[in-house]
Amino acid sequence: MKRVLITGAAGFLGSHLCDRFIKEGCHVIGMDNLITGNIDNIAHLFPLKQFEYYHHDVSTFVHVPGKLDYILHFASPASPIDYLKMPIQTLKVGSLGTHNLLGLAIAKNARMLIASTSEVYGDPLIHPQTEDYWGNVNPIGPRGVYDEAKRFQEAMTMAYHTYHGLETRIVRIFNTYGPRMRVNDGRVLPAFFSQAIRGEGLTVFGDGSQTRSFCYVDDLVEGIYRLLKSDYSQPVNIGNPDEITIKEFGEEVLEMVGNPKAKLIFKELPVDDPKVRKPDITRAKEVLGWEPKYSRAEGMAITYEYFKKVVERK
Ligand code: UDP
Repeated sequence: MKRVLITGAAGFLGSHLCDRFIKEGCHVIGMDNLITGNIDNIAHLFPLKQFEYYHHDVSTFVHVPGKLDYILHFASPASPIDYLKMPIQTLKVGSLGTHNLLGLAIAKNARMLIASTSEVYGDPLIHPQTEDYWGNVNPIGPRGVYDEAKRFQEAMTMAYHTYHGLETRIVRIFNTYGPRMRVNDGRVLPAFFSQAIRGEGLTVFGDGSQTRSFCYVDDLVEGIYRLLKSDYSQPVNIGNPDEITIKEFGEEVLEMVGNPKAKLIFKELPVDDPKVRKPDITRAKEVLGWEPKYSRAEGMAITYEYFKKVVERK
């Protein structure tokens, strides 16, 4: 039985990964310090013998008894308001946390996959973003703590690969959504769904002409699983290239929820908010035979059912 360590296990992506590896018959060790994670996301796994949970901050020394085959490092505050509130922890988990886990991977002879991000491209000057684009990041802007931690994480991981010969995988994750996103994490989809359900204004930042491309979580998990199993150590974009402006996205949510009290309202655009974002997924198609299966309409319908349960309609 393969033994897998998943950091950030109680988070949105981490918890879905725990489910997937349990389904694949692995023994899963979930680790989290719950600064943004929610234990409810993995509560259903606690009765299973196949699952263990360690409450731990991976920015400090990480000890795991027994063998490990895979380490997936998904611990980090991941929404702009979270990393603004926790800038030092964000920098530490991406840098010191990654270093600790790489050391653990060496000690256990485990394969290490890190969760990188489209944020390594910053406010991109090429569109769509290919993996060979180096990015346009402001290191000292409000997003710098996340972006630079993730860029350091990639550099450190690649150094362990080239210097120590460690088996490493780097996934660059684009905007992803689905059940278990935190209602108040500040990201656009939970914000819009909860505002629409409550009959409030949907807070469009700027004029809403900035674009994003949203990937349903099951598609993302499939891409990550395939990347882990592949022998490919260069970064791979995983995301859905179906691009939409934030204003159009707000209109889609309004139509889906159909609450007559809800409408779009416009707020100031945050500093360094990327104007466009869309993955070029040629590499994922060629190397992993992967592409997203869920349309936005399908993924949003499933996600809306989740938000209906967790947000009270007014
Ligand atoms: N956004 C918005 N209203 C919100 C939250 C976000 O208009 O209440 C915008 C934000 O300015 C950005 C996009 O939606 O252009 C996606 O933001 P999010 O925080 O979800 O993630 P990002 O892609 O910026 O990391």
